[in-house]
Amino acid sequence: MIPMNMVTPPPELAAITALQSKLVSALRPILPEHALLWEPEDTIPYECDGLAAYRRMPLAVALPETEAQVAQILKVCFDMQVPIVPRGSGTGLSGGAMPISQGLVLSLAKLKKIISIDPFTRTAVVQPGVRNLAISEAVAHLGLYYAPDPSSQIACSIGGNVNENSGGVHCLKYGLTLHNVLKVRGILMSGEIVEFGSLAPDSPGLDLLAIVMGSEGMLAVVTEVTVKLIAKPKLARVIMASFDDIEKGADAVAAIIAAGIIPAGLEMMDKATTRAVEEFVHAGYDLEAETILLCESDGTPEEVAEEIERMTKVLEQAGASGIQISQNEAERLKFWSGRKNAFPAAGRLAPDYYCMDGTIPRRNIGTLLRRIQGMEKKYGLACLNVFHAGDGNMHPLILFNGADQEEWHRAEEFGTEILEACVELDGTITGEHGVGIEKINSMCVQFGEGERESFWGVKAAFDPERLLNPDKAIPTLNRCAEYGRMRISGGNLPHPELERF
Ligand SMILES: Cc1cc2nc3c(=O)[nH]c(=O)nc-3n(C[C@H](O)[C@H](O)[C@H](O)COP(=O)(O)OP(=O)(O)OC[C@H]3O[C@@H](n4cnc5c(N)ncnc54)[C@H](O)[C@@H]3O)c2cc1C
Repeated sequence: MIPMNMVTPPPELAAITALQSKLVSALRPILPEHALLWEPEDTIPYECDGLAAYRRMPLAVALPETEAQVAQILKVCFDMQVPIVPRGSGTGLSGGAMPISQGLVLSLAKLKKIISIDPFTRTAVVQPGVRNLAISEAVAHLGLYYAPDPSSQIACSIGGNVNENSGGVHCLKYGLTLHNVLKVRGILMSGEIVEFGSLAPDSPGLDLLAIVMGSEGMLAVVTEVTVKLIAKPKLARVIMASFDDIEKGADAVAAIIAAGIIPAGLEMMDKATTRAVEEFVHAGYDLEAETILLCESDGTPEEVAEEIERMTKVLEQAGASGIQISQNEAERLKFWSGRKNAFPAAGRLAPDYYCMDGTIPRRNIGTLLRRIQGMEKKYGLACLNVFHAGDGNMHPLILFNGADQEEWHRAEEFGTEILEACVELDGTITGEHGVGIEKINSMCVQFGEGERESFWGVKAAFDPERLLNPDKAIPTLNRCAEYGRMRISGGNLPHPELERF
């Protein structure tokens, strides 16, 4: 009989505690004391990434300082069959780095050396924990920079950028992470070292570089990245154009690209966003405009002058109600300041905001914005729209109060409806923030069974035991059945052996 003053932990909790002790004992000989955390007060900062609505405590957190330690940790976890969640800076917005309760968080943040910089080949070799902006800062004296510029670039790591194939304002012209990385080195869950890509633009054999890009920590732990550097443009200027109608603004985006112009940046903000940021940055935005477009041109002074003139004409023909062109660098930065601060400005309007990330063909931007206006009424929540218009990558910011569970569920449903509208409008449920845990159900809407099975086939080639970041990005058949998105063909239910929910 158990004495009254002793509380026996439930069996699952006892099993987790036992597994934790076993894992910590196995990892202790590999890592210095300060690089292994397991007490809740130490591991709590790792319970979520930038998507704070989803949280879970891990068994432990390892912070290796060398590639050799990473390999040893993987071996220990492989032998113990403990799943691993790799983590860069934790700025991800889809819960990709959210822990697994019976798994280890493997932080790569301490691997932050810039290994080499070669101005002749215009490349740099960096460890995964190097911050995106730190690369450009390290090569600025050579007149070079690393082009992909996620708005989180001050904090996010290059390892995270590779695993999310991150984009940013300048990716329309200069490409995503995929187009600016030559080679990636990583370690498989089994401990095998793998390399994707090569220093030459073409490499012998199958080119697998694109497979690791955006693989969300599911294939290999990235330990080294060779990035391309490009020359800093001599000049940049930005046009700020106002439109009295959202669809006119959206059509102007399509018209610029149709005119054969690829601006260095092409971003859009709706009226609600402009009003929110103007209070915050005082950039002189047109507060009556239904939407504002920021169109940047960069290059030599002659190239910029010519492109600005061409873009101005297209914007006028598209019905812009006002056009301002930055006259100097300070003014250019001022025009951009609102766009760059849109997320913090949203944070001033409501206790919480939920940032969605879907992509649609540019011609459908206006239609989606109109639909979102209807959804605001349906869910009783406001939404700010700010986005990479040139890429058709939308970032609706749904405002809500996280202290109210019912309001959070409404925000979640609002977000899901936006993603499903993106699919209906020939787009995708993700742009640059990955699938993670956030959009895993929406993957059932976007992809059919055959496609999802082929994704599992790729995963199995790298991680047959499904130990690297499991339960993220690719939904299982069961999950899609539960979500009610199994396709029934000819009245025959696929996989009748599965339990239905
Ligand atoms: C304010 C704000 C603005 C943002 N703006 C943009 C934007 O403009 N464009 C954009 O693309 N994103 C943006 N993001 C999202 C986020 O910053 C990017 O996805 C970024 O690439 C994540 O990098 P991280 O180092 O923080 O990775 P984490 O969040 O730590 O991890 C992201 C994913 O990568 C995996 N991972 C990380 N490191 C490794 C590694 N070394 N090996 C294997 N897997 C790894 C993780 O398991 C996870 O699945 C923004 C985020 C915030 C908070």
